[in-house]
Amino acid sequence: MANHDIGHCKDCRYFNSKSMHPSGSEIAQCRQPELQDFDLLVAGDCGCNAFEARAESDISRGMPMEEPSPMVH
Ligand code: SF4
Repeated sequence: MANHDIGHCKDCRYFNSKSMHPSGSEIAQCRQPELQDFDLLVAGDCGCNAFEARAESDISRGMPMEEPSPMVH
């Protein structure tokens, strides 16, 4: 459940970064359920009142890994 604290996107569970420690200048998608339809790209130093602190377990829920390159014969 949202705690509605204000915090930086880089520390928010909805900041779609694969980094363990996103920087303030990193740009990533905001995946907050009510904002996701807007396809927002936000910087790590941005923030809003839908902030929820991210846990280590949230990191693996980020963007899907890239598909492996096809093999060339
Ligand atoms: S815009 Fe708000 S909800 Fe989205 S990543 Fe930043 S702090 Fe989190």
